[in-house]
Amino acid sequence: MGNIDITQNFLFWEYRKVEYMANLGIPQNTIDVLQKYNFNFQKKFGQNFLIDTTVLERIMDAAEITGDDCVLEIGPGIGTMTQYLCERARHVVAVEIDKNLLHILEDTLKDYDNKTIINGDILKVDVNQIAKDYNDGKPLKVVANLPYYITTPIIMGLFENNIPLKSITIMVQKEVAERMQVGPGTKDYGALSLAVQYYAMPKIVANVPPNCFIPRPNVGSAVIRLDRYEVPPVQVENEKKMFDLIRASFNQRRKTLVNGLGNAQNLSYSKEHITEVLEQMGLSPLVRGETLTLEQFAQLSNLL
Ligand code: SAM
Repeated sequence: MGNIDITQNFLFWEYRKVEYMANLGIPQNTIDVLQKYNFNFQKKFGQNFLIDTTVLERIMDAAEITGDDCVLEIGPGIGTMTQYLCERARHVVAVEIDKNLLHILEDTLKDYDNKTIINGDILKVDVNQIAKDYNDGKPLKVVANLPYYITTPIIMGLFENNIPLKSITIMVQKEVAERMQVGPGTKDYGALSLAVQYYAMPKIVANVPPNCFIPRPNVGSAVIRLDRYEVPPVQVENEKKMFDLIRASFNQRRKTLVNGLGNAQNLSYSKEHITEVLEQMGLSPLVRGETLTLEQFAQLSNLL
């Protein structure tokens, strides 16, 4: 029995060696590339590269990439996830800020002709133009292991700039993923939860420990999928006004909504008026913003 096991293992590893020689999801392959190019990680760019094939497969399954899809990858690093995406998508556009990674990507992705690497800052790149150039303006799928230092601006930029999007499947800090998914009555509920849930349906699909990355981040991570709504789940007359109200409510989350909004410098509602509107909504004048649902914020915004 023992002999059979050994033989099977041997065959398995031989097979993997041939099949996945250049698969950067395998830690040794990533280490080889880093050494070959003498690559220095840049902390300022939030560089933590994935080295776990199971997690990479999990992300691909969650994103449901098909041969019709054009995928936008934010921060390809040395091209680990890009390899997995190129295997499945029609085309992959990857935007990487770090110039030192460009020649490495040329090497690690040389077998794929369905990719375009753009050197730039995702917060400045015109993603609408990418959709036009590579997908006839049709909705893109975004898939990424995000640089954690700019998670929120990246997500909000994609939503607020009206980029045609089907879904966003991203690795983020675990705590941030939870904030995106929760509803009222929890400590993590806040402006990010409401903003994300106005634009998309969030679903955490995996928790990922630090040992799946090189170097290891100091925090736990999670993969979350955000499915873009075609029509928002609530009707609001003025989106900006609703988000100003939401931000003001959570800036002073321990205060009542009447005080939080009444004292906000960028808003000009009297406390009496806010109290009246809350009464109209059947809410106590002592209610706190952190207990309101997205529907209630929309109603508040429309009534004020
Ligand atoms: N996708 C790779 C992986 O999973 O192994 C790398 C992920 S690493 C967490 C984040 C990547 O985003 C790095 O390659 C980093 O250089 C890049 N990056 C950081 N800030 C960026 C920005 N503003 N625009 C585009 N890429 C950025």
